[in-house]
Amino acid sequence: MTPTTSAHAGTPVERVATARARIEAACERVGRRASSVVIIGVGKTHGPEAVQAIVDAGVPDIGENRVDELRAKQGRVSGAHWHLVGRLQRNKARDVVGHHVLVHSLDRRSLADVLSRRAQDADVVQRALVQVNVGEDPAKGGCEADEALELVAYARELPHLSVEGLMTIPPLPGPSDDANDAAQPHFAALRRLRDEARGRWPEVVHLSMGMTADVEAAVSEGATMVRLGTALFGPRGSGPWRPAGGNR
Ligand SMILES: *Cc1c(COP(=O)(O)O)cnc(C)c1O
Repeated sequence: MTPTTSAHAGTPVERVATARARIEAACERVGRRASSVVIIGVGKTHGPEAVQAIVDAGVPDIGENRVDELRAKQGRVSGAHWHLVGRLQRNKARDVVGHHVLVHSLDRRSLADVLSRRAQDADVVQRALVQVNVGEDPAKGGCEADEALELVAYARELPHLSVEGLMTIPPLPGPSDDANDAAQPHFAALRRLRDEARGRWPEVVHLSMGMTADVEAAVSEGATMVRLGTALFGPRGSGPWRPAGGNR
């Protein structure tokens, strides 16, 4: 068996148990129920067998940051619910709409327009979260915090788009910073925006925030979806996973 040399060593079942224990402990500290936090396993760079193992270990929600990688895995993994957590180009919208994917990265009106139009063509309602760059990090996607409510207001008026919450990726912490401490104010800022949005539009409930290094801070600030890559899958490979001998 793999020696337990780090927090993310072990079998998929053991890694899921370790991640759940972290979330349960964080929930307990702030009086939340662990069942109020959905774990999304972020499988980018990992092949479909690894993703299937995490699904079978009890984490059916799977996130990918590239549309092509997500679509390639959809046909090879069973029993999963899919999330797109990476940037979405307008010309890829048709590859997402109608494929049962929650888009976490709605960050501009033009993308809302094309998602709604494609969803109308497919006769579906596309579900989305608005991504907000609360840390004003030029390296991260998302609309600006002071534009977020306007974007929610705009997108939820489109007939085939349903805005169900907000998502953020905080700036990378400095080398001597504690990741949870560094992320906390950004998560708190996203929560305040969500509270304001929810006061106007009750369907805006979700807070997608928290990754392997900062999941405790996210849970304490009210995350309803946490996105765990390394904690569940171990270290990432060097690039996107692609099926051998083709694009799909
Ligand atoms: C890769 C990724 C994650 C997971 O990151 P870890 O630090 O490995 O948990 C979460 N969210 C997004 C948007 C990602 O791209």
